[in-house]
Amino acid sequence: MLNFTVGPVMSSESVREIGGEQTPYFRNDEFSKVMFENEELMKEFVYASDDSRVVFITGSGTAAMEATVMNVLGEKDKVLIVNGGGFGQRFVDLCNLHNISNEEIKLDFGQNITHEILDEYSGKEITAFLVNICETSSCVYYDLELISKFCRENNIFLIVDAISSFLANPLNMEEQNIDVVITGSQKALACPPGISVIVLGPNALKRVENNQCKSMYFDLKDMLKNGERGQTPFTPAVTILLQINQRLKEIKKQGGVESEIKRISSLANDFRMKIEDLPLEIKCNCLGNSVTGVYCINSDANEIVNTLKFDYNIWVNPNGGEVGNKMFRVGHIGDLTLKDNDKLIDAFKELEKRGILK
Ligand SMILES: *Cc1c(COP(=O)(O)O)cnc(C)c1O
Repeated sequence: MLNFTVGPVMSSESVREIGGEQTPYFRNDEFSKVMFENEELMKEFVYASDDSRVVFITGSGTAAMEATVMNVLGEKDKVLIVNGGGFGQRFVDLCNLHNISNEEIKLDFGQNITHEILDEYSGKEITAFLVNICETSSCVYYDLELISKFCRENNIFLIVDAISSFLANPLNMEEQNIDVVITGSQKALACPPGISVIVLGPNALKRVENNQCKSMYFDLKDMLKNGERGQTPFTPAVTILLQINQRLKEIKKQGGVESEIKRISSLANDFRMKIEDLPLEIKCNCLGNSVTGVYCINSDANEIVNTLKFDYNIWVNPNGGEVGNKMFRVGHIGDLTLKDNDKLIDAFKELEKRGILK
């Protein structure tokens, strides 16, 4: 198969090989060493300060989103949430579920955040800001610099869900005053789903320390304490953590986070350039590097998604909701190459000949 969805994505040969091994026992120094390496490399790749910490939760990305809301936010907070799609809505739902007072910035599908929109909330006693920096459902990549500046000026605690954009778009925790970064194993980390990651800056660690978390499994204090010896409170997805270790070390060897971002960005640009001659359209002018939302001018998006899958074994991401029959998404994360882009473009050209893409 050739997988252009936004996750789970294609994994490299070396990551897949680890998946075929027996799962090793983990309460030992060998596994602790792996976890310490994972923590260090994660911190390096998001430019976290030395006194930051990282926790690895066995659960999908939403587990890290929920654990963050439960451990870092509290009853004294008033949270501002950017809601421009399915993942923004998830943060709203999580805050409501956990009784965290919140206001949402409700954006239209495909709309970016602006100076004017943020200005309305200046001086409104907002204490924390939640944003899915790439709203994967609409493919919008919000203006992180703008958000970072707004939070710095208003002394607001900033939480960034970078699940789909970590390793695809740059992010600098120290310089951009980001207090929490969330990511997951099945997006640009290109491992199987099952592990989500939270990087906590010094202010976030203080918040966790002073918070009473009413959950055993999602208690970040417990995870941080165990992490001091390279361990987790409960049995983690050991194999995926080993795969993450392999992947992080490979990225480091190939030039680090900047060169990985460059690689993904050139795949995205190549794809966007090559569809220019096809009856397909890119409407969003604020895309990140992870994913492209593609509109069909005269054809049915679902028919294209399904024909690619059944006739060519190429998988792209269908879209839900109102745009479902007009738009599909093409991911640029995972073990993909420029040659793979060409295979997808060739398939589009055949669909055009067959009268399916028109
Ligand atoms: C994929 C994704 C998530 C996590 O979804 P899970 O299905 O729980 O892994 C969260 N936020 C964003 C922006 C995502 O792209």
